[in-house]
Amino acid sequence: APATVGQAVIPLVNRLQDIVARLDGASAAAAGLELPQVAAIGGQSSGKSSVLEALVGRDFLPRGPDICTRRPLVLQLVRHSAPEEWGEFLHAPGRRFHDFEQIKREIQSETDKEAGGNKGVSDKQIRLKIFSPNVLDITLVDLPGITRVPVGDQPSDIESRIRSMIMQYIKHPSCIILAVTPANADLANSDALQLAKLADPDGSRTIGVITKLDIMDRGTDARNFLLGNVIPLKLGYVGVVNRSQEDINFNRSIKDALAFEEKFFSTLPAYHGLAHCCGVTQLAKKLNTILLKHITYMLPGLKSRINAQLVAVAKEHAAYGDTAESTSGQGVKLLNILRKYCEAFSSMVEGKNKVSTDE
Ligand code: GDP
Ligand code: MG
Repeated sequence: APATVGQAVIPLVNRLQDIVARLDGASAAAAGLELPQVAAIGGQSSGKSSVLEALVGRDFLPRGPDICTRRPLVLQLVRHSAPEEWGEFLHAPGRRFHDFEQIKREIQSETDKEAGGNKGVSDKQIRLKIFSPNVLDITLVDLPGITRVPVGDQPSDIESRIRSMIMQYIKHPSCIILAVTPANADLANSDALQLAKLADPDGSRTIGVITKLDIMDRGTDARNFLLGNVIPLKLGYVGVVNRSQEDINFNRSIKDALAFEEKFFSTLPAYHGLAHCCGVTQLAKKLNTILLKHITYMLPGLKSRINAQLVAVAKEHAAYGDTAESTSGQGVKLLNILRKYCEAFSSMVEGKNKVSTDE
Protein backbone atom coordinates (compact mmCIF):
# COMPACT_ATOMS: atom_id res chain seq x y z
CA ALA A 1 0.00 0.00 0.00
CA PRO A 2 1.27 3.51 -0.70
CA ALA A 3 2.52 5.51 2.27
CA THR A 4 -0.33 7.52 3.64
CA VAL A 5 -0.14 10.21 6.24
CA GLY A 6 -0.69 9.05 9.73
CA GLN A 7 -0.70 5.30 9.25
CA ALA A 8 1.28 4.69 12.41
CA VAL A 9 -0.66 7.08 14.61
CA ILE A 10 -4.08 5.93 13.46
CA PRO A 11 -4.68 3.40 16.20
CA LEU A 12 -3.81 5.96 18.87
CA VAL A 13 -5.69 8.93 17.62
CA ASN A 14 -8.73 7.29 16.08
CA ARG A 15 -10.71 6.95 19.25
CA LEU A 16 -9.90 10.43 20.41
CA GLN A 17 -11.09 11.79 17.09
CA ASP A 18 -14.17 9.61 16.99
CA ILE A 19 -15.25 11.25 20.18
CA VAL A 20 -14.23 14.71 19.08
CA ALA A 21 -16.17 14.27 15.85
CA ARG A 22 -19.35 13.95 17.89
CA LEU A 23 -18.88 17.37 19.42
CA ASP A 24 -19.86 20.13 17.03
CA GLY A 25 -17.12 21.99 15.18
CA ALA A 26 -17.28 25.05 17.41
CA SER A 27 -16.83 23.21 20.68
CA ALA A 28 -14.12 20.96 19.28
CA ALA A 29 -12.20 24.06 18.25
CA ALA A 30 -12.91 25.70 21.61
CA ALA A 31 -11.52 22.66 23.36
CA GLY A 32 -8.33 22.95 21.31
CA LEU A 33 -8.87 19.61 19.68
CA GLU A 34 -7.83 20.38 16.17
CA LEU A 35 -4.91 18.35 14.94
CA PRO A 36 -2.08 20.29 13.40
CA GLN A 37 -2.35 21.24 9.76
CA VAL A 38 0.45 20.27 7.43
CA ALA A 39 1.25 22.93 4.83
CA ALA A 40 3.51 22.50 1.82
CA ILE A 41 5.37 25.66 0.86
CA GLY A 42 8.03 26.53 -1.68
CA GLY A 43 8.79 28.04 -5.05
CA GLN A 44 6.57 27.48 -8.04
CA SER A 45 6.95 24.00 -9.55
CA SER A 46 9.18 22.86 -6.71
CA GLY A 47 6.95 19.79 -6.35
CA LYS A 48 4.60 20.73 -3.48
CA SER A 49 1.46 19.27 -5.00
CA SER A 50 3.35 16.15 -6.04
CA VAL A 51 4.59 15.59 -2.48
CA LEU A 52 1.14 16.01 -0.91
CA GLU A 53 -0.39 13.70 -3.45
CA ALA A 54 2.21 11.05 -2.80
CA LEU A 55 1.47 11.32 0.92
CA VAL A 56 -2.24 10.80 0.33
CA GLY A 57 -1.47 8.00 -2.10
CA ARG A 58 -3.96 9.15 -4.72
CA ASP A 59 -3.81 11.14 -7.94
CA PHE A 60 -6.03 14.17 -7.79
CA LEU A 61 -4.11 17.43 -7.68
CA PRO A 62 -3.41 19.56 -10.72
CA ARG A 63 0.34 19.48 -11.25
CA GLY A 64 2.56 20.86 -13.97
CA PRO A 65 5.45 23.03 -15.06
CA ASP A 66 3.28 26.16 -15.05
CA ILE A 67 1.44 27.79 -12.13
CA CYS A 68 -1.18 25.15 -11.30
CA THR A 69 -2.03 25.77 -7.69
CA ARG A 70 -3.53 29.24 -7.71
CA ARG A 71 -5.79 29.06 -4.68
CA PRO A 72 -5.01 27.50 -1.30
CA LEU A 73 -6.40 23.98 -1.29
CA VAL A 74 -7.38 22.86 2.18
CA LEU A 75 -7.51 19.11 2.04
CA GLN A 76 -9.21 17.42 4.95
CA LEU A 77 -8.61 13.71 5.15
CA VAL A 78 -11.49 12.01 6.86
CA ARG A 79 -11.18 8.45 8.02
CA HIS A 80 -14.24 6.25 7.83
CA SER A 81 -14.82 2.53 8.09
CA ALA A 82 -16.41 1.85 4.69
CA PRO A 83 -14.08 0.62 1.94
CA GLU A 84 -15.00 3.34 -0.58
CA GLU A 85 -12.95 6.46 -1.12
CA TRP A 86 -14.45 9.69 -2.37
CA GLY A 87 -14.02 13.44 -2.33
CA GLU A 88 -16.49 16.16 -1.45
CA PHE A 89 -16.06 19.91 -1.94
CA LEU A 90 -17.40 22.52 0.42
CA HIS A 91 -18.75 24.43 -2.58
CA ALA A 92 -20.73 21.37 -3.77
CA PRO A 93 -22.11 19.83 -0.60
CA GLY A 94 -23.54 16.34 -0.87
CA ARG A 95 -21.96 15.61 -4.24
CA ARG A 96 -19.58 12.65 -3.95
CA PHE A 97 -16.69 12.49 -6.39
CA HIS A 98 -15.63 8.86 -6.68
CA ASP A 99 -13.53 9.56 -9.75
CA PHE A 100 -10.30 11.27 -8.68
CA GLU A 101 -9.71 12.58 -12.23
CA GLN A 102 -12.97 14.44 -11.84
CA ILE A 103 -11.76 15.89 -8.55
CA LYS A 104 -8.76 17.27 -10.39
CA ARG A 105 -11.00 18.84 -13.05
CA GLU A 106 -13.26 20.32 -10.38
CA ILE A 107 -10.24 21.92 -8.64
CA GLN A 108 -9.17 23.39 -11.96
CA SER A 109 -12.57 24.83 -12.82
CA GLU A 110 -13.05 26.22 -9.30
CA THR A 111 -9.61 27.81 -9.57
CA ASP A 112 -10.59 29.46 -12.86
CA LYS A 113 -13.90 30.61 -11.40
CA GLU A 114 -12.23 32.58 -8.62
CA ALA A 115 -8.79 33.40 -9.98
CA GLY A 116 -9.61 33.67 -13.70
CA GLY A 117 -8.29 31.58 -16.56
CA ASN A 118 -5.11 33.59 -17.01
CA LYS A 119 -2.70 32.60 -14.21
CA GLY A 120 -4.38 34.82 -11.60
CA VAL A 121 -3.99 33.89 -7.94
CA SER A 122 -6.61 34.14 -5.20
CA ASP A 123 -6.39 33.67 -1.46
CA LYS A 124 -9.91 32.25 -1.34
CA GLN A 125 -9.67 28.63 -0.24
CA ILE A 126 -10.94 25.57 -2.01
CA ARG A 127 -11.97 23.07 0.63
CA LEU A 128 -11.94 19.41 -0.23
CA LYS A 129 -12.64 16.45 2.01
CA ILE A 130 -11.30 13.05 1.08
CA PHE A 131 -13.13 10.19 2.79
CA SER A 132 -11.12 7.01 3.03
CA PRO A 133 -10.52 4.06 5.34
CA ASN A 134 -6.74 4.51 4.99
CA VAL A 135 -6.14 7.97 6.39
CA LEU A 136 -5.83 9.79 9.67
CA ASP A 137 -8.10 12.77 10.16
CA ILE A 138 -5.66 15.46 9.30
CA THR A 139 -5.62 18.60 7.19
CA LEU A 140 -3.07 19.17 4.45
CA VAL A 141 -2.76 22.54 2.76
CA ASP A 142 -1.50 22.95 -0.79
CA LEU A 143 -0.45 26.53 -1.40
CA PRO A 144 0.42 28.53 -4.49
CA GLY A 145 4.15 28.66 -5.07
CA ILE A 146 6.28 31.75 -4.72
CA THR A 147 6.94 33.54 -8.01
CA ARG A 148 8.82 36.73 -8.73
CA VAL A 149 7.87 37.91 -12.19
CA PRO A 150 4.16 38.62 -12.73
CA VAL A 151 2.69 36.72 -15.70
CA GLY A 152 -0.79 36.75 -17.26
CA ASP A 153 -3.30 38.54 -15.04
CA GLN A 154 -1.03 38.59 -12.00
CA PRO A 155 -0.63 41.93 -10.23
CA SER A 156 2.79 43.58 -10.05
CA ASP A 157 3.09 42.74 -6.35
CA ILE A 158 2.42 39.02 -6.89
CA GLU A 159 5.46 37.93 -4.91
CA SER A 160 4.57 39.76 -1.71
CA ARG A 161 0.92 38.72 -2.03
CA ILE A 162 1.82 35.05 -2.27
CA ARG A 163 4.31 35.36 0.57
CA SER A 164 1.75 36.87 2.92
CA MET A 165 -0.84 34.30 1.84
CA ILE A 166 1.60 31.54 2.81
CA MET A 167 2.41 33.24 6.12
CA GLN A 168 -1.28 33.25 7.05
CA TYR A 169 -1.09 29.48 7.16
CA ILE A 170 2.37 28.74 8.50
CA LYS A 171 2.41 31.37 11.26
CA HIS A 172 0.19 29.19 13.47
CA PRO A 173 2.34 27.43 16.07
CA SER A 174 0.54 24.17 15.40
CA CYS A 175 1.16 24.18 11.64
CA ILE A 176 3.72 21.66 10.46
CA ILE A 177 5.69 23.12 7.57
CA LEU A 178 6.90 21.03 4.67
CA ALA A 179 9.54 23.31 3.18
CA VAL A 180 9.88 22.00 -0.38
CA THR A 181 13.03 22.76 -2.36
CA PRO A 182 14.06 21.15 -5.65
CA ALA A 183 17.47 19.49 -5.59
CA ASN A 184 18.44 21.12 -8.87
CA ALA A 185 18.39 24.57 -7.26
CA ASP A 186 20.69 25.99 -4.61
CA LEU A 187 19.42 25.29 -1.11
CA ALA A 188 20.74 28.66 0.04
CA ASN A 189 18.26 30.30 -2.37
CA SER A 190 15.31 28.29 -1.11
CA ASP A 191 12.17 30.40 -0.75
CA ALA A 192 10.64 27.63 1.32
CA LEU A 193 13.42 27.54 3.90
CA GLN A 194 13.52 31.33 4.07
CA LEU A 195 9.79 31.64 4.77
CA ALA A 196 9.81 28.70 7.16
CA LYS A 197 12.57 30.37 9.12
CA LEU A 198 10.45 33.50 9.49
CA ALA A 199 7.43 31.57 10.74
CA ASP A 200 9.33 28.98 12.78
CA PRO A 201 12.65 30.54 13.82
CA ASP A 202 13.80 27.65 16.01
CA GLY A 203 12.85 25.05 13.42
CA SER A 204 10.72 22.97 15.74
CA ARG A 205 7.99 22.33 13.17
CA THR A 206 9.75 22.54 9.81
CA ILE A 207 10.64 19.47 7.76
CA GLY A 208 12.89 20.05 4.76
CA VAL A 209 11.74 18.20 1.67
CA ILE A 210 14.16 17.95 -1.26
CA THR A 211 12.46 17.02 -4.54
CA LYS A 212 13.73 16.22 -8.04
CA LEU A 213 16.74 14.23 -6.92
CA ASP A 214 16.46 12.37 -10.22
CA ILE A 215 17.15 15.42 -12.36
CA MET A 216 20.16 16.96 -10.69
CA ASP A 217 23.11 18.11 -12.75
CA ARG A 218 25.23 15.12 -13.69
CA GLY A 219 28.03 14.59 -11.22
CA THR A 220 26.15 16.21 -8.34
CA ASP A 221 23.99 14.69 -5.62
CA ALA A 222 21.96 15.88 -2.65
CA ARG A 223 23.80 13.94 0.05
CA ASN A 224 25.05 17.07 1.81
CA PHE A 225 21.62 18.72 1.61
CA LEU A 226 20.01 15.67 3.20
CA LEU A 227 22.62 15.44 5.94
CA GLY A 228 21.95 19.05 6.87
CA ASN A 229 25.52 20.05 6.04
CA VAL A 230 24.39 22.95 3.86
CA ILE A 231 21.54 24.39 5.94
CA PRO A 232 20.99 22.57 9.23
CA LEU A 233 17.41 21.90 10.19
CA LYS A 234 16.38 20.54 13.58
CA LEU A 235 13.86 18.05 12.20
CA GLY A 236 16.03 17.23 9.24
CA TYR A 237 15.40 16.63 5.56
CA VAL A 238 13.77 13.97 3.45
CA GLY A 239 14.69 13.53 -0.22
CA VAL A 240 12.01 12.37 -2.64
CA VAL A 241 11.63 11.47 -6.28
CA ASN A 242 8.17 12.39 -7.56
CA ARG A 243 6.76 11.73 -10.98
CA SER A 244 8.16 13.81 -13.81
CA GLN A 245 5.92 15.70 -16.21
CA GLU A 246 6.43 12.87 -18.68
CA ASP A 247 5.22 10.37 -16.08
CA ILE A 248 2.16 12.53 -15.52
CA ASN A 249 1.49 12.83 -19.23
CA PHE A 250 1.73 9.04 -19.57
CA ASN A 251 -0.43 8.43 -16.49
CA ARG A 252 2.23 6.54 -14.60
CA SER A 253 0.68 5.22 -11.40
CA ILE A 254 1.69 6.21 -7.86
CA LYS A 255 2.61 2.60 -7.21
CA ASP A 256 5.04 2.52 -10.14
CA ALA A 257 6.45 5.86 -9.06
CA LEU A 258 7.09 4.52 -5.55
CA ALA A 259 8.87 1.48 -6.97
CA PHE A 260 10.98 3.76 -9.15
CA GLU A 261 11.85 5.93 -6.18
CA GLU A 262 12.87 2.94 -4.11
CA LYS A 263 15.11 1.65 -6.89
CA PHE A 264 16.62 5.10 -7.37
CA PHE A 265 17.72 5.37 -3.76
CA SER A 266 18.93 1.81 -3.45
CA THR A 267 21.09 1.91 -6.58
CA LEU A 268 22.76 5.30 -6.26
CA PRO A 269 25.90 5.07 -4.10
CA ALA A 270 25.52 8.73 -3.05
CA TYR A 271 22.46 7.81 -1.00
CA HIS A 272 23.81 4.71 0.67
CA GLY A 273 23.38 4.80 4.41
CA LEU A 274 20.75 7.53 4.12
CA ALA A 275 17.67 5.29 4.03
CA HIS A 276 16.18 7.16 7.01
CA CYS A 277 15.92 10.38 5.01
CA CYS A 278 15.11 9.09 1.54
CA GLY A 279 11.70 8.47 0.04
CA VAL A 280 8.11 9.48 0.53
CA THR A 281 7.53 6.57 2.93
CA GLN A 282 10.17 8.04 5.23
CA LEU A 283 8.49 11.43 4.97
CA ALA A 284 5.20 9.88 6.08
CA LYS A 285 6.96 8.22 9.02
CA LYS A 286 8.62 11.45 10.03
CA LEU A 287 5.29 13.21 9.94
CA ASN A 288 3.75 10.50 12.10
CA THR A 289 6.43 10.88 14.73
CA ILE A 290 6.02 14.63 14.78
CA LEU A 291 2.24 14.38 14.97
CA LEU A 292 2.44 12.02 17.88
CA LYS A 293 4.88 14.28 19.71
CA HIS A 294 2.64 17.21 19.01
CA ILE A 295 -0.43 15.43 20.37
CA THR A 296 1.44 14.39 23.49
CA TYR A 297 2.58 17.96 23.99
CA MET A 298 -0.98 19.29 23.59
CA LEU A 299 -2.62 16.79 25.92
CA PRO A 300 -2.18 18.51 29.30
CA GLY A 301 -3.60 21.79 27.97
CA LEU A 302 -6.33 19.86 26.27
CA LYS A 303 -7.32 18.16 29.46
CA SER A 304 -7.63 21.35 31.45
CA ARG A 305 -9.68 22.95 28.67
CA ILE A 306 -11.98 19.96 28.60
CA ASN A 307 -12.41 20.18 32.36
CA ALA A 308 -13.25 23.87 32.16
CA GLN A 309 -15.72 23.22 29.39
CA LEU A 310 -17.20 20.39 31.38
CA VAL A 311 -17.89 22.67 34.31
CA ALA A 312 -19.54 25.24 32.04
CA VAL A 313 -21.70 22.71 30.25
CA ALA A 314 -22.69 21.01 33.48
CA LYS A 315 -23.93 24.33 34.82
CA GLU A 316 -25.96 24.93 31.70
CA HIS A 317 -27.31 21.41 31.92
CA ALA A 318 -28.40 21.91 35.52
CA ALA A 319 -30.19 25.11 34.53
CA TYR A 320 -32.20 23.32 31.85
CA GLY A 321 -33.19 20.33 33.97
CA ASP A 322 -32.72 16.69 33.21
CA THR A 323 -33.91 16.11 29.65
CA ALA A 324 -31.76 13.32 28.29
CA GLU A 325 -32.12 14.63 24.74
CA SER A 326 -30.97 18.17 25.51
CA THR A 327 -27.78 19.14 23.77
CA SER A 328 -26.21 20.28 27.01
CA GLY A 329 -26.91 16.86 28.53
CA GLN A 330 -25.21 15.17 25.60
CA GLY A 331 -22.39 17.65 25.91
CA VAL A 332 -21.74 16.59 29.48
CA LYS A 333 -21.73 12.94 28.51
CA LEU A 334 -19.38 13.50 25.59
CA LEU A 335 -17.00 15.67 27.52
CA ASN A 336 -16.82 13.09 30.26
CA ILE A 337 -15.95 10.38 27.76
CA LEU A 338 -13.44 12.70 26.17
CA ARG A 339 -11.79 13.47 29.48
CA LYS A 340 -11.50 9.81 30.34
CA TYR A 341 -10.03 9.06 26.98
CA CYS A 342 -7.57 11.90 27.24
CA GLU A 343 -6.37 10.47 30.52
CA ALA A 344 -6.05 6.98 29.08
CA PHE A 345 -4.24 8.39 26.08
CA SER A 346 -1.67 10.30 28.09
CA SER A 347 -0.95 7.42 30.42
CA MET A 348 -0.46 5.27 27.34
CA VAL A 349 1.94 7.78 25.81
CA GLU A 350 3.76 8.26 29.09
CA GLY A 351 4.27 4.52 29.42
CA LYS A 352 6.34 4.94 26.29
CA ASN A 353 7.13 1.28 25.59
CA LYS A 354 3.58 0.63 24.56
CA VAL A 355 3.60 3.35 21.97
CA SER A 356 5.78 2.95 18.97
CA THR A 357 5.76 5.23 15.96
CA ASP A 358 7.56 2.65 13.85
CA GLU A 359 5.34 0.38 11.87
P1 GDP B 1 4.23 22.74 -7.32
O1 GDP B 1 4.05 23.90 -8.23
O2 GDP B 1 5.27 23.02 -6.29
O3 GDP B 1 2.95 22.24 -6.73
O4 GDP B 1 4.87 21.57 -8.19
P2 GDP B 1 4.16 20.34 -8.92
O5 GDP B 1 3.92 19.24 -7.96
O6 GDP B 1 3.00 20.83 -9.73
O7 GDP B 1 5.34 19.86 -9.87
C1 GDP B 1 5.87 20.73 -10.86
C2 GDP B 1 6.49 19.92 -11.99
O8 GDP B 1 7.67 19.27 -11.52
C3 GDP B 1 5.59 18.79 -12.51
O9 GDP B 1 5.75 18.74 -13.90
C4 GDP B 1 6.14 17.54 -11.87
O10 GDP B 1 5.98 16.41 -12.68
C5 GDP B 1 7.60 17.88 -11.72
N1 GDP B 1 8.20 17.21 -10.56
C6 GDP B 1 7.87 17.36 -9.25
N2 GDP B 1 8.66 16.62 -8.45
C7 GDP B 1 9.52 15.97 -9.27
C8 GDP B 1 10.60 15.05 -9.04
O11 GDP B 1 10.92 14.65 -7.90
N3 GDP B 1 11.27 14.60 -10.14
C9 GDP B 1 10.94 15.00 -11.43
N4 GDP B 1 11.64 14.52 -12.46
N5 GDP B 1 9.94 15.88 -11.67
C10 GDP B 1 9.24 16.36 -10.62
MG1 MG C 1 1.08 23.01 -6.82
